Amino acid sequence: MLQVGINGYGTIGKRVADAVAAQPDMAVCGVAKASPDFGAEGAVRRDYPLYAALEDRLPSFREAGFDPAGTSKELIEESDIVVDATPGGIGAENLTRYKAADTPAILQGKEDDALVETSFNARSNFEKAVDADYVRVVSCNTTGISRLVTPLEEAYGVEKVRATLVRRGGDPDQTGRGPINDILPDPVTVPSHHGPDVRTILPDLEIDTMGLKVPATLMHMHSLNIELSEEPDTDEVCELLEGESRIFVVDGDMAIDGTGKLREYARDYGRPRGDLWENCVWGDSINVEGSELYMFQAIHQESDVIPENVDAIRAMTGLASREESMALTDEALGIGLPEPRGRSKIASPAP
Ligand code: NAD
Repeated sequence: MLQVGINGYGTIGKRVADAVAAQPDMAVCGVAKASPDFGAEGAVRRDYPLYAALEDRLPSFREAGFDPAGTSKELIEESDIVVDATPGGIGAENLTRYKAADTPAILQGKEDDALVETSFNARSNFEKAVDADYVRVVSCNTTGISRLVTPLEEAYGVEKVRATLVRRGGDPDQTGRGPINDILPDPVTVPSHHGPDVRTILPDLEIDTMGLKVPATLMHMHSLNIELSEEPDTDEVCELLEGESRIFVVDGDMAIDGTGKLREYARDYGRPRGDLWENCVWGDSINVEGSELYMFQAIHQESDVIPENVDAIRAMTGLASREESMALTDEALGIGLPEPRGRSKIASPAP
């Protein structure tokens, strides 16, 4: 059983820990946190050995009634591989510690691609991470775009992607980012940095992106125009996307009119934390005119990168091939939501 340490147990770290614990071929050997807050209590409740991020934090954990197993230094030494889910910039600092301990590690989206051997998305470039020691799982937005573009590229060829990313202002627990009531071009410079980040996964892709931030916490929304090399019909594209386990084509009959209802659906469905690991593409928005494909997709920023971290672990350690790993991860987490009943409606002739 592969022993996985999680360094940084916040929004991403706690979800990665639960996803790792659900897999048949890996186990959580411990989680490290900076402060002994409610998150630490959650880790103990799940029986994850708890470590203090740094030596000088140990007393505060003990004063709060926890019995830490040590510091992240020990966790790094005991782990076969570490998933670093610390806030942006700290992963880069930690990298020297992973290298000193000769422990392979996965960094997250905020860290620089230049730090690692490869950036990673399971559907797009799993093979690049095989046997690598230091890998970066790309951001939630880059994950969402890479997952969508890869099957389109394989099926029809992609000439150019133009994407407007309407981004949530903060995660639900990021009270420090609000309250806010505004719409910000962010970044105001065009095109935004998101396109170059997608090229860390798909280096040859022509892509321009623009970013906005809005006062929302639930999900991001992408407005996409993708110029294809061929001219498939709309129905064909719907079918292609439905065939992707990590893309959920939302049927019009479900009356899901926004991200609020999407998250409510996930909660009703029994998803842990109401998570949506899949890209959520509105079926009714998929439209091909000539070679131009249009659609809206919502991305659950807190969870779409979680299965990717699990697959990156398998790629780096040689536990499984891409197909095997993605299938195993999907099965263990329960990824894949019922596909639309309404596709027949999209296909039917206009009245
Ligand atoms: P977070 O702030 O929710 O969690 C970070 C955790 O790390 C906290 O528990 C904090 O106590 C802990 N920590 C701080 N310093 C530490 C240290 N020195 N050692 C160990 N632990 C430490 O952050 P997050 O949202 O989970 O983001 C983590 C990474 O994942 C970032 O690179 C971020 O860009 C990326 N990411 C975040 C999201 C998102 O929407 N939240 C989506 C995709 C990727």
